[in-house]
Amino acid sequence: SNAVEELQALQIQLLQREQRLAHEAVHDTLTGLPNRAWLMERLHYLIDQKHLYAVLFMDLDRFKVINDSLGHLVGDELIKQATQRITTLISPNATLARFGGDEFIILLENITDIEAAIRLARVIQTGLEAPFPILEHELFVSISIGITMGDQDYQKPEDILRDADIAMYQAKNKGRNRHDIFNPISRNQAIARLE
Ligand code: GH3
Ligand code: MG
Repeated sequence: SNAVEELQALQIQLLQREQRLAHEAVHDTLTGLPNRAWLMERLHYLIDQKHLYAVLFMDLDRFKVINDSLGHLVGDELIKQATQRITTLISPNATLARFGGDEFIILLENITDIEAAIRLARVIQTGLEAPFPILEHELFVSISIGITMGDQDYQKPEDILRDADIAMYQAKNKGRNRHDIFNPISRNQAIARLE
């Protein structure tokens, strides 16, 4: 009957809505990438699992200049295109997530050593060298990357992200468009600076 069909249609709508909301909770709207919530969840899982993995903390270089000179919409478009390009460069055991603003994280899983992470950082930095055609512009953007391995008795996602961030900050300090590997001495220096 009509009533049954209407009810079925409603049920399907509800189900689709539920699926859409579940997807939106763990994805970023601008890029469609997994978001920070997804990332924290996955890091919890990886910490429990005790498999070897690497975190690449990536932040676009001098991105404010793009926004300030060409506007936020151009900035947004560049974030989208850079995301698409990076996505084509990474292997299936890597997941690209948007951490916020111009910060991105790659989780590289099932690796045997840090070399895999270093290679990936190089691939991404080389891959970003070609310009992005946006409106009438040819835009260039580079990225600084901090790498840390998930094997160092990490208990909390926040701890591993902090260390990857310290390594990224170091890459920025040394001139940007480069990657650095986390080293515990830098953590002590960062804490000293903070104090
Ligand atoms: P640095 O090399 O030190 O990273 O310099 P930066 O200019 O990239 O500065 P920072 O990473 O500290 O700031 C990121 C800037 O990115 C801040 C803001 O202007 C811009 N931004 C953050 N999120 C978005 C976004 O969603 N869209 C656009 N268009 N810009 C964003
Ligand atoms: Mg930046």
